[in-house]
Amino acid sequence: MYISQPFQTTLTKSVSRSGIGLHSARLVDIKISPAPADTGIVFRRTDVSSVETAIKAVSGNIADTMLNSRIMNDDGVAIGTIEHLMAAFAGLGVDNAFVDVNAAELPAMDGSSSLFCAMINDAGIELLNSSRKYIKVIKPVRIKTERSEASISPSDRLEIDVTIDFDDPLIGKSQYFYVHDDGSFENELAPARTFCLYKDLTKMRAAGYVVDNGTLLNESGLRFTDEFVRHKTLDCIGDLSLAGLPLIGHIRCSQPGHAVNNKLLEALLQDESAWIVVDAAEIASPAPAATEAEPVPAFA
Ligand SMILES: [Zn+2]
Repeated sequence: MYISQPFQTTLTKSVSRSGIGLHSARLVDIKISPAPADTGIVFRRTDVSSVETAIKAVSGNIADTMLNSRIMNDDGVAIGTIEHLMAAFAGLGVDNAFVDVNAAELPAMDGSSSLFCAMINDAGIELLNSSRKYIKVIKPVRIKTERSEASISPSDRLEIDVTIDFDDPLIGKSQYFYVHDDGSFENELAPARTFCLYKDLTKMRAAGYVVDNGTLLNESGLRFTDEFVRHKTLDCIGDLSLAGLPLIGHIRCSQPGHAVNNKLLEALLQDESAWIVVDAAEIASPAPAATEAEPVPAFA
């Protein structure tokens, strides 16, 4: 219900959790808290002092997109593996939040967005007394890399069309078409776990699952028969949320990854003739009927 309504949102209260960081292999504490309108998503490193510890999750702060998405502020303070939490915020319609973390990376949880969604649902979401703004695509933008192709074109909603094609016979070729609406992220994408090929990286087994030449090496099996392409779509939502405002456009991506998602976002933002910022009040369709049951914004 927080996607298709015109107010900015934040969390109702703070919630905390711990989990193992994928790269550091140590326990990481994470706390997500309410933030005022127009804050966006701001990470804060609680294990760092004497320098600026806040890092805003926007594309200008992206430092690395090799295996995960890492952002860094002007003082060189960074936070990595943010994409599954960012996807959960975007997927549930949370515009503003502070994220306190005592390490250089977020906990991997189960390799999906499910536990981050559970944290957000535990905290609760509330409306703020400020209208939501969107980046609306008005002209197609296309990019190409050696292995991938991606484009974003005008649409009246956020849609993501993802195609993957892996040599491994278990993954193979797969396509997913996602329409961003109330409930769709939680139902269709949030539980889809990250994956990697055994030949590429063995430590991924701890978080997500591992595929070795057509065989799934995790005992628990797949959550969806097309879990791979769903996870790629989830990553795409998390990466593109670094636009800083929700996007309205049709995204098409073949062989996506963090690098190509980021390249598409950069190409879009750099071409100022390709998008406009619109206020929710200017968009007719998502506004709820102004009768009974309309949520009352919290004037925090
Ligand atoms: Zn991922």
